[in-house]
Amino acid sequence: MRNLIDGHAHLNAIIPIGPAIERACSVGVSRIIAVGMDLESNKKTLEIAGNYPGCVFPAIGYHPWSILENEIENNLAFIEKHIDQCVAVGEVGLDYKIKVKKALQWKVFSRVLKIAGKNEKPVIIHTRFSYERAHRMVVEAGIKKAVFHWYSGPENVLFRIIEDGYFVSATPALVFSKAHREAIAKAPLEKILIETDSPVKYRYKTSEPADLLETLQQLARLKEISEDKVALITTENSTRLYGI
Ligand SMILES: [Zn+2]
Repeated sequence: MRNLIDGHAHLNAIIPIGPAIERACSVGVSRIIAVGMDLESNKKTLEIAGNYPGCVFPAIGYHPWSILENEIENNLAFIEKHIDQCVAVGEVGLDYKIKVKKALQWKVFSRVLKIAGKNEKPVIIHTRFSYERAHRMVVEAGIKKAVFHWYSGPENVLFRIIEDGYFVSATPALVFSKAHREAIAKAPLEKILIETDSPVKYRYKTSEPADLLETLQQLARLKEISEDKVALITTENSTRLYGI
């Protein structure tokens, strides 16, 4: 049986969660990094992790899509208070395709980066149309460990991410997203994590952690390396990043 790690899943949004975790285990996904986006999902993520010790490892964060001005202080205080229970800070980042003002996104991102830095936690980063800025802010915050999740950005930023020792992650979107496939093709396997971002819909199918096999197969095909070897290396990468 393989020992795979789903490096990024929104377990709080998968209902019911029990059978989905069982299906994941039955195909060799033995550990899952559960990420939060806002106060409510952060709480739920910690609760789920508490119910599945050794299997679900929590990260709490503040997704740019979820920023509400009147909730910022509450959620940041929650993250600070509970960060010790978590393997990472995430999901956090920048997204220039949405309506939330850039200045507000920068403010929230820089504050969560500060919390991550102070507590020496890795950061799980969402970035769309904001690759340069997101990378620069991570570097300037002195963050040592980070993953640029579902990376689909330009080559020049990708190479800086790799040089700085950070990771990128691959999702089932490798099947249909040219930008994602091209970026992951250029990244060395030693710097790639695999994940599902479930329950994101990929071409009309709602995903779950068991779909990590799809990411694994696609990545193996793209790299022309056996699935067993890709499984071994990506699990090692996740183990190293998250310290699990
Ligand atoms: Zn996500």
